[in-house]
Amino acid sequence: MCGIVGFTGKQQAAPILLEGLSKLEYRGYDSAGLAVRDGENLAEVVKAKGRLSNLSEKIDGGNALKGTCGIGHTRWATHGQPSDINSHPHSGERVTIVHNGIIENYIELKDYLLKKGRTFLSETDTEVVAQLLDYKYNGDPIDTIHNVIRMLKGSFAFGIVFADYPDVVYAVRRESPLIVGIGEEKKECFIASDVPAILNYTKKYYLMDHDEIVKLSHDGVEFFDSH
Ligand code: GLU
Repeated sequence: MCGIVGFTGKQQAAPILLEGLSKLEYRGYDSAGLAVRDGENLAEVVKAKGRLSNLSEKIDGGNALKGTCGIGHTRWATHGQPSDINSHPHSGERVTIVHNGIIENYIELKDYLLKKGRTFLSETDTEVVAQLLDYKYNGDPIDTIHNVIRMLKGSFAFGIVFADYPDVVYAVRRESPLIVGIGEEKKECFIASDVPAILNYTKKYYLMDHDEIVKLSHDGVEFFDSH
């Protein structure tokens, strides 16, 4: 198990993500990381092996990482040892993701991408999905996510940000838990592995269905099924 938190809204994302992850520490983890978007800039990624406090120190409790949209992760390593490089988030050129779960067919997918000339930094099954989303990206995140999850076997909850879409967090899950929260003003939205991560901000939440895709933006939450 591990923890995922995602946020988009008016407030600074990094302190909210760190606080949310701290509420998920009970699930166990060996490393942690964040990706935060500041307007049009690409997501800035910071990761640290070990306690969440290591990550928090690196970014001054979140103050050193500016931006109002982001995804955070505490990792329980299943593929590749606990290390800074294997920690999430993982990225392709235009996409950054956090993942909870296990991609059972990641070796076949990695071979497929290696043949297409893709290279990998980590030993994780997760980076294969980041590269696959990047490779299959057609300018439409929902369509791309839909096409990619059809290729995956195993369990997953993903938080995803695309370079082309500032202020938007996408998410999808199968077998692994993920909830969506809507802030009181509807101008801020959350994803999380479990309710305590967002309870300080909202009590309005929804348990995502398998293979349902959500888009969190400043306009609220949109849900997409396979059709
Ligand atoms: N399988 C992924 C990894 O080893 C995610 C593990 C998790 O759920 O934390 O990085």
